[in-house]
Amino acid sequence: MDTMNFEELLQESARVHGHLCPGQVLGVRMSLLGLEAIGICDPKGADSKSLIVFVEMDRCATDAVQSVTGCSLGHRTMKFMDYGKMAVTFMNLGTGRAVRVVVREEARSRAQEYFPEIENKYDAQLKAYKAMRNEELFNTMDVKVKVQDQDMPGRPLKRVKCEACGEYVQDMREVCRDGRILCKPCAQEGYYTI
Ligand SMILES: [Zn+2]
Ligand SMILES: [Zn+2]
Repeated sequence: MDTMNFEELLQESARVHGHLCPGQVLGVRMSLLGLEAIGICDPKGADSKSLIVFVEMDRCATDAVQSVTGCSLGHRTMKFMDYGKMAVTFMNLGTGRAVRVVVREEARSRAQEYFPEIENKYDAQLKAYKAMRNEELFNTMDVKVKVQDQDMPGRPLKRVKCEACGEYVQDMREVCRDGRILCKPCAQEGYYTI
């Protein structure tokens, strides 16, 4: 992991994300910890086909995970699980090993104690998240993850036409209702109405 320098990775993630923030520090550190735990050394190079991440939040840290791991929605190597938790699972597709990294709730309050002389809460947090030990910041756990064939990177396995709106649905996201093949919005599982 010595090819991956923390400060360099942090600079790059702050550049991609648009600003340096406590979330970038957490995201970079979660990624380094997770990748090491599953034996991935070169996520953007030799190991890029072996890695998939499940992010449980759509927050600043998510961009840092993308920056460090090279995983993205567009490559289908980043899965967004809308749990609202500061947690990420890193999975090695080659070995099946998966480790979930969760930010500890106490990390917030402890960050304030680290640099009491810094008045700005945000700055104190940023600096503390750099200084704190992994064990103070994160809980990690081995987990089992089953990645479905239709969720893997690569060409879509299936593409069907919605019988209501006529739009096409790929990757087996269609729904069967009363014998009709429908897209999720037409099956009333959508985020929009017309
Ligand atoms: Zn941010
Ligand atoms: Zn439809």
